[in-house]
Amino acid sequence: MKRLSAHLGGPNLWVKRDDCTGLGLGGNKLRKLDYVLRDAIDRGADTLVSGGVVQSNSQRQVAAAAAKLGLACHLAVYHGRLAPPSAEYEKTGNALLNRLFGAVLHDVPWNGDRNGAITALADELRGHGRQPYIVPYGVSNPLGAVGYASTLVEIAHQCGALGFAPQAIVHCSGSGGTQAGLVAARRGLPDSRIVGIDIDAEPERVRADVVAYAEAAAAYLDQPFDAADVEVVAGHAGPAYGVPHQATIEAIKLGAALEGLVLDPVYSGKGLAGLIALIRSGRWTRGENVVFIHTGGAPALFAYRHLFN
Ligand SMILES: *Cc1c(COP(=O)(O)O)cnc(C)c1O
Repeated sequence: MKRLSAHLGGPNLWVKRDDCTGLGLGGNKLRKLDYVLRDAIDRGADTLVSGGVVQSNSQRQVAAAAAKLGLACHLAVYHGRLAPPSAEYEKTGNALLNRLFGAVLHDVPWNGDRNGAITALADELRGHGRQPYIVPYGVSNPLGAVGYASTLVEIAHQCGALGFAPQAIVHCSGSGGTQAGLVAARRGLPDSRIVGIDIDAEPERVRADVVAYAEAAAAYLDQPFDAADVEVVAGHAGPAYGVPHQATIEAIKLGAALEGLVLDPVYSGKGLAGLIALIRSGRWTRGENVVFIHTGGAPALFAYRHLFN
């Protein structure tokens, strides 16, 4: 990202385009689904069951994968984790795509239990003779993290081909499986620090989840695990999950105007806002290299149109 690097006057910035993973407008959940859905098929599932907020990118990717595999898809749609930021929030972006991919949507109130309504929905479907398979909130579990480890391997190859090893890999962290996969595979780039930007305004919960999934994923992969490798940076989430602050809006505008990147107000925009803040604090110097992972999320941008008028 030459123009953004020059604008910020810090390290050389690179972007890993995990928003371009292919299916259903892409994103980081598809890599996690690689192994999770293999497990679903091996177990003879005919129905995927998952859940998330109205504008969940995770649900969209589950729904798209279900369509591709010919599986039914039932989603618990959580209302109330955040107040709808706009009139179109319930209809556009990911909400529209979930319907288009053929998912059956079940509206439920958010009560803080990420997987409770998903489990209840799976039980109900089993009672109706279906073979449901639970895809956890955010596709975050040890198997999902194993799938995400592939990103670090790709970054290692791609940076190697370009002739450098990055000082850091920076991305936004929420349900934890993404960071867990990177940490579990970190021996592939031993000199690079993995830096997760908390976007949930719950940095301690995020870190605890990353540690748990990374430890289990590292065991699957026969890799060492050290909790000291899990760095979750607080202070860039804005007031709450799904509520962007001014720094996020500025980061989205910079990414778009300088690099043609489409970031979103819930995840990737907050991630870039955190990276910009770390650069401005002098964490890396000119000549060093930092990779930002664009984890996806652009469809949600359209539910926040009013921020960019
Ligand atoms: C889910 C998501 C994240 C966070 O990944 P986790 O594995 O939940 O920590 C980041 N960016 C986007 C666009 C996402 O949809």
